[in-house]
This record gives sequence, C-alpha cells and structure tokens, in this order.
Amino acid sequence: MIAATTFAGKRVALFGLGGSGLATVRALVAGGADVAAWDDNAATREKARAEGAPLVDLATAEWRGFSSFVLSPGVPLTHPAPHWTVERARAAGVEIIGDIEIFCRERAAHAPNAPFIAITGTNGKSTTTALIAHLYRTLGRDVQMGGNIGTPILSLAPLDAARVYVIELSTFQIDLTPSLAPTVGVLLNLTPDHLDRHGTMEHYAGIKERLIAASDHAVIAVDDHYTREIAERRLSAAKPTTLASTASPGLSDGYVLEGRGLAQRTDGRSHPLADLSGIGSLRGAHNAQNAAVALATLAQSEDVARAVEGLHTFPGLAHRMEEVGRLGRVLFINDSKATNADAAEKALLSFRDIHWIAGGLSKEGGIAPLAPLFGRIAKAYLIGEAAPAFAQTLQGAVAYEMCGDLQTALAHAGAEALRSQAPAPVVLLSPACASYDQFANFEMRGDAFRALVAQFIAAHAPGDRT
Ligand code: ADP
Repeated sequence: MIAATTFAGKRVALFGLGGSGLATVRALVAGGADVAAWDDNAATREKARAEGAPLVDLATAEWRGFSSFVLSPGVPLTHPAPHWTVERARAAGVEIIGDIEIFCRERAAHAPNAPFIAITGTNGKSTTTALIAHLYRTLGRDVQMGGNIGTPILSLAPLDAARVYVIELSTFQIDLTPSLAPTVGVLLNLTPDHLDRHGTMEHYAGIKERLIAASDHAVIAVDDHYTREIAERRLSAAKPTTLASTASPGLSDGYVLEGRGLAQRTDGRSHPLADLSGIGSLRGAHNAQNAAVALATLAQSEDVARAVEGLHTFPGLAHRMEEVGRLGRVLFINDSKATNADAAEKALLSFRDIHWIAGGLSKEGGIAPLAPLFGRIAKAYLIGEAAPAFAQTLQGAVAYEMCGDLQTALAHAGAEALRSQAPAPVVLLSPACASYDQFANFEMRGDAFRALVAQFIAAHAPGDRT
C-alpha cells in the first residue's frame, strides 16, 4: 500500500466506497488523515463499515472543516450534472481530487524520480498498459501496474525510486488529478465515446490533452484528427515528444507500422524492429497501434531492441480477441469485451472465414456500419435480444442462424467451422452488444464462452478417448 503521508493530520472527506474508494480510505488512514467517508448506497456503506472505514454522513457534515474532498472517478464531476457532493465541496471552497492525485503528491514528496508511465486514450488503454508493464518486466525491471486497470493505484507497492509505475488513466481520473506530472504520458487515440458523461468532444479531448501537456515526455499515436492536433500543439511548444502511427506512411520520425512490421523512423530512414505477424496476442491494426506506442514508451529509458523481444511473450488480456482454443485448422477467439459495433469491427478486420457469434443487448446504431466487412463472415450465429435486428441487417448479405443462447451458437458455429473447407476458419465471439440480457457482465459472458470452447474441443478432439 502507498500510505497518504502528505495528508497527515488533515481532515479529508471521501465519497464513493467501491474498490478504489476503500483502498483510498486505507491509504489516508495509514498516512494519518482524519477521514470522513460516505456512499449513497447503504449496502456499500455497510461493507465499508465492516472493513473499518470511518463513516460520516456528508449530507449533514460541516464541509468547511475539510481540507480536501476525494471523489470516486465513477461519480459525475461535471456531466451530465455535478454530483451533490461536488456542489457542497465547491460551496465550501474545498479542493476536489481523486486517488491518482494522492499518488502524485506522495511521489513528489518521497520518490520524484520513480518512473511513472500514464496511459490514456479512447480505446486500447488496458491492452497497452498491460503490454508496457510486460515489456518492462521482461527487461527485469520492478514494475507496478494499476489505476483504471486491476489494482487501485494506492494499493500498489510503496514508492521507490527504482520502481516503475505503469498506470492506466480514464478521463475522469485525469480530471481529478491537478498535479499530474508523469515521466511519460501516452495518448493512444480519441474518438467520441460516452459523451453523455464527458459533455462535448472538445471538453473530452481537452481533459485528455492535460495529461499530455503535463508529461515530461509524451508519446502520441497520430492516427486521428484529435490526437494529431494535440501532437502539433505539443511539438510547437518544443516539448519532448515521440510520435507513433499505423496509418501515416509519411511520418519521418517515430514508430510506425510497415506491412505487418513495426519500424522506427529517423529522418525518414526506416529501421525494422519487429514482425507482428506471428504474435497471436497482437493481431489487427489496432494492436499494432498499441505495440508501436508501447515500444515508443520503452525507448525513452530502455534498449528498444531488447524490449522488442518481450512482444513475443505478451499473453494479451482476457476477453479482447483472446485465443481460447484451437482444433485442427479452427481457431476459437473470445472478444466478449466488444460491446459495440466499433469494437467488433476491430475483430472482424483481423480475420477471414469467420463463424461470427453476435448479439446480446443491442446498442444504438446496430451492426449496419459493419457492412463493408460482411464478406469476411462465413456465417453469423445470433443470440440475445438483438438477434432479430441483426438478422434484418444481415438479410441477403450474410448467412445467419437464430441461435438464442451462447451454448447453441458455439455448438453450431464450432461444428460448421470444423466442416469448412477454408484454410483457417475462425469461431469468433465478438457480440457488438452489451451482455446484460443473458450475463451479468462481459467478463462472465467471455468466461462462459471459454468453458464452452474447452468442452467442445474435448468432445471433438480426435483420438485419445479412453
Ligand atoms: P480500453 O481499456 O481503452 O477499454 P482495451 O485494451 O480493453 O481498451 O480494449 C477494448 C477493445 O477496444 C478491444 O477489444 C478492441 O476491440 C478495441 N481496441 C483495442 N486497442 C485499440 C486501439 N488501439 N484502437 C482502437 N480500438 C482498440
């Protein structure tokens, strides 16, 4: 744990007692703060009380006595409307911060040279964070990974100048971190996403840019309009910046994709670094962007030629184009995290001869934007509430079957893929839908798929049946 020593003797209010909120309470108490913690949800409060959190009803508390207010990143600071605690803090002139801010103050006080890599973007944050952490680990560095991925930041091992902190940051977390100053700030991409929670695209991009502006060194993938503009402003301010791209053949300096290989360009001259074609955990152009950015980040402090070797051992993350089985020529892929058409597009782009399991709880827009990729689909196996709407879109363009549930879909897709004459058929769960109609979350849907695939393979594997 990272104790919040910079808050010793201060009275600190905190709202939101989920995983990171509880971890923050522990860090503040360990650091000697007087904490007043609260949550709107009675069950969450009880769980926190059982773990020793000092509860104070913030609705009736005297806010002028607080020196800081720690807000959980899941609670609205600005959009669609500020939470009532935010209004109370503002009225009382109390600063509003998050757990990442506490980390930044501890780092500044105790280990200002501890490498701090902060990763953000609309898509690919978790994959890139995990990849960067993996590459540092393969080089023998002492690495801590957390933030918006896995472990809350204040539950990581104590600050140490030799320890590398690889931290995924959401927009909400950046917005609650006024003294953010990472060693390397990484921006992957920017596309409209959850604008109901971010206001306008300009507001959303502006918060992401704060991370870049505050970084000692910035790594920016310049494959979209917004990140290109941010990179231009950073470069015209003459601040240390490394660019990466999978779609700008003209980039003369930076980390780029050439065919299926990553290369480093210097003054227009290309130095090949890595062939991604045999790396199952980094399939697709989107993962090439993640890998290019990861190498650009490692290059700031490490021998990039050695770091490249770690790409081959990256296990990838569960539920993101995760290879969950192989039977003869047939590959089984779990992409349960693809809860919208945009994410499913990345998977469809990465394969051919696809036996596509799709459906669930439909989101606005459906799968019509995927029409240019329908030629890659051998057949669609539709499940959940979205099945009739998806069938309508596929009508006349792609063979499909109404399967109802995941179990039926996998049984049929697996059997037909095995009978396929294609050189490398793929059974792909990439639902383009939320899971809530049939599963509690995308993780449970992906876990169910993985288990079904294991059973299917056991039942169909040739030989050795005693
Ligand atoms: P995040 O943490 O930002 O949600 P993940 O690494 O969990 O991102 O990936 C989620 C999904 O986003 C993946 O399943 C894939 O469909 C898509 N994705 C991953 N990397 C990228 C990228 N660089 N650009 C666009 N989409 C991506």
